[in-house]
Formats: sequence, C-alpha cells, structure tokens
Amino acid sequence: MDTPLAMESGHPDPPPGQCWCCGSIDDPDRMIHLGNHPEVAMCRPCARWAAKEAWEIEDRDRTGVLVSLRDRFRRLRRGVIDRNWHRHPVFGRPLRWLGNRLP
Ligand SMILES: [Zn+2]
Repeated sequence: MDTPLAMESGHPDPPPGQCWCCGSIDDPDRMIHLGNHPEVAMCRPCARWAAKEAWEIEDRDRTGVLVSLRDRFRRLRRGVIDRNWHRHPVFGRPLRWLGNRLP
C-alpha cells in the first residue's frame, strides 16, 4: 500500500490547492501535480523555479558559450533578488517579467 509522502515525514498533507513549495493557494486545476504523487501540487511560479533549478543542475556538467551565458544570467538574477530590485514599484514588474523568460 502506498503511503503519502507527508505521512512518511510526519507532516500532514497541505489542503488541496495549496502549493507544497511556498504554501500559496490556487485552483488545483491550475497547479502542477507530480506524476506518482498527484496529491503533491506546486503553483506555477514554483514549478518555473523548479525547472530553472533542474536546468542549473544539468548545466553543472556542461561547458560552452551558452552555459556561460546562462550562468551570467543566473548571477545577475541573484544580484537583483539580493538587492530586492524585483519588488521595486517601477522596475520590479519588468524585472520579474524578464526573470521569468531567462534561464
Ligand atoms: Zn508555490
């Protein structure tokens, strides 16, 4: 018998529609569900973050101009986030838009 992930870790499952990553609430039909554990849902921003993380992990074993360029974008993004510029009232929105489209 399958045991839900949350039961194995001793934590109760979050309610349906709650992101297991950040805790935000959304329509479950507009969330990403894991294949073997459909009870595990992620909001779209967290799913984009996870995809970027996976890409970064894959890039660790690669070399080349494009890998170097993606690393620069990642460092630039971290610099923006460290300075909280992504929440700036004027520049925040275009920076977040750009950040969603870059590696
Ligand atoms: Zn989330």
